[in-house]
Amino acid sequence: MQRRELFGSLASKLRGETSAKKQESILRPPYNNEESLFHNECQKCDGRCATVCEEEIIKIGSDKSPYLNLLKSGCTYCDDCAAACEFGVLTLENKREINAKITINRSLCMSWSSVMCFSCKDPCLDDAIAFKSLFQPIIDAEKCTACGFCISRCPVEAIEVRVV
Ligand code: SF4
Ligand code: SF4
Ligand code: SF4
Repeated sequence: MQRRELFGSLASKLRGETSAKKQESILRPPYNNEESLFHNECQKCDGRCATVCEEEIIKIGSDKSPYLNLLKSGCTYCDDCAAACEFGVLTLENKREINAKITINRSLCMSWSSVMCFSCKDPCLDDAIAFKSLFQPIIDAEKCTACGFCISRCPVEAIEVRVV
């Protein structure tokens, strides 16, 4: 699934076009405590986490719970959203990474087709993208924090996000 399709699919879920059972497949802000809290506590709030996020990646869905859009920027794990949440949905004690697996689609990636490109490597502050023989980038799942900063840098939308 291409990146645009994935986010289209996520967006449609957030418009309520999915069953409550499947809500856990939404890309949530980090530091989240328990999925059920998004459905119970966020309704009391005016979306403070989205207001304080300097990267503007937190959006508020029609059910008033937050989700992430990584199409333009990524998460710096700055703690601000957790610090702003007064309802225990996001907490500093639950400093966990974004619930996503980031991978490179080799059939779309220019480098895997022998066209030199390092666009995704530069924004990765975690040094999670290794180039084998200069042309074969691979994301190291152990190092990747799912921050998403590489996504918008890829000129051919080869970086894919899967909610885990
Ligand atoms: S600040 Fe907390 S309660 Fe408010 S929308 Fe964000 S996660 Fe929900
Ligand atoms: S940790 Fe910071 S950058 Fe990441 S979603 Fe929260 S407020 Fe935004
Ligand atoms: S999502 Fe992973 S590979 Fe991409 S910039 Fe962040 S840490 Fe690096």
